[in-house]
Amino acid sequence: MTEQDEYWMRQAMVLAAKAEQENEVPVGALVVHNGECIGQGWNKSIGNHDATAHAEIMALRQAGKVLGNYRLLECTLYVTLEPCIMCAGAMIHSRIQRVVYGASDAKTGALDSVLQLLATPGLNHLVAWQSGVLADECATQLSAFFKRRRAEKKAARKQQN
Ligand SMILES: [Zn+2]
Repeated sequence: MTEQDEYWMRQAMVLAAKAEQENEVPVGALVVHNGECIGQGWNKSIGNHDATAHAEIMALRQAGKVLGNYRLLECTLYVTLEPCIMCAGAMIHSRIQRVVYGASDAKTGALDSVLQLLATPGLNHLVAWQSGVLADECATQLSAFFKRRRAEKKAARKQQN
């Protein structure tokens, strides 16, 4: 883990906060190339009615447009939550060099928790990955969101009665 990793993870947390403002699960992601952010994303699945609109996918799409190439060689993707199977797959297809994530996801995490997808033997492209950068802060951002949402639902139910 480097100082750079912490810096970019903080930026990803800012993007996650944007998702929260839109009532999406607060996950943020960004793609860095030569020390510059070339792609930003935050969850948009609910608003876009799109199960594939995860923060990582949004960031990969924008980075591809900026580079004029779907191959994101020598890029690093930062994301506040451990990527799922779909996003880990997209990272392999994008030929990204490295992935850095914050909080672990015990339910759908495909890098360490449920699967170790990037370690699958025989893959055509190897992606390096780093876990646990600002893990506690990223996890708190998520748990605060779910806590608030549960409280809102409870309050709504009370009003109905
Ligand atoms: Zn995902």
